[in-house]
Amino acid sequence: MGRLEGKVAIVTGGARGIGAAIAHRLGAEGASVVVFDIDAEAGRERLRLLKEQGASAIFVHGDVASEGDVIRCVRSATEAFGGVDVLVNNAGIGAPPKPIFEQTLEEWNRVIAVNLTGPYLFAKHAARVMARRGGGVIVNIASTRALQSEPNTEPYSASKGGLLALTHALAISLAPHRIRVVAVSPGWIETSEWQLPPRKPQLTRLDHEQHPAGRVGRPEDVAALVAFLASDEAGFITGVNFVIDGGMTVKMLYLDDAVIAGALTLLTGDPEFAELVREAVASGALGEVKAALRAALRKGG
Ligand code: NAD
Repeated sequence: MGRLEGKVAIVTGGARGIGAAIAHRLGAEGASVVVFDIDAEAGRERLRLLKEQGASAIFVHGDVASEGDVIRCVRSATEAFGGVDVLVNNAGIGAPPKPIFEQTLEEWNRVIAVNLTGPYLFAKHAARVMARRGGGVIVNIASTRALQSEPNTEPYSASKGGLLALTHALAISLAPHRIRVVAVSPGWIETSEWQLPPRKPQLTRLDHEQHPAGRVGRPEDVAALVAFLASDEAGFITGVNFVIDGGMTVKMLYLDDAVIAGALTLLTGDPEFAELVREAVASGALGEVKAALRAALRKGG
């Protein structure tokens, strides 16, 4: 018996990426799965793959930012499987990264609508059905970007920060209905293998090794945590946020070659030198650069 046997789970944005891994994992643990996604073609293909896995599933096409679509999804779940026990608010988008002076109100509004208003609407309509069944679980997929930032990400970071606040607000409001509400904040998750069609990840050694856990995250990592939180084993957990990032936020610095080149520029005061080192590392010519540096040092000494 799976931990979610007899449960009904809605996964928004479940056609591709992290949401798809969550849908497969919840299905494998015995839940009936409702995949809700704006991408109809990907949604139909995900449904086929879920059924191939042996899961009981349906696909509902729609936009999380449309209250009509949200109501239709909750109704479809109830008609197909008798109700809703688990809601995973996973669908999310970013805005094009650009300086705040160039960001548009339209871009801001769309990110907030999908990443924050969508989860609010889904929570509102799914919780009504959960309450009638005597309880349920809502898992909001936020991001470590709710807690720390790279430049030029205001709409995304603000939407995810809002989602953390929505999580504790809902946890308190819905507690009398025995509905638990939690947030999961992933760090860097490589989703290529969960796209449609699946792609090969293009990751470097630096990408992996800068993580205290020694590797970039996978959708399966997030899915395993969501399955636990959705199960009765997590019955004493509500209102809180789980960071799943291989240790990056406690390390407090995301390293990439641009950051290293920036640090080298700071050290030497010479951006051209930093760029040359960066190019030498990328081209594998580090040995020659070291030999040239030793020769220069010998000459200088
Ligand atoms: P993805 O783009 O691979 O998949 C997102 C899915 O959501 C797609 O199937 C897409 O069609 C669907 N979707 C987008 N807008 C929608 C809408 N308006 N209505 C319904 N469905 C919609 O993204 P992902 O990387 O798998 O991210 C999933 C969630 O995890 C997002 O909330 C994202 O912010 C969060 N997250 C991702 C990472 C990461 O590194 N991948 C890190 C932190 C947080």
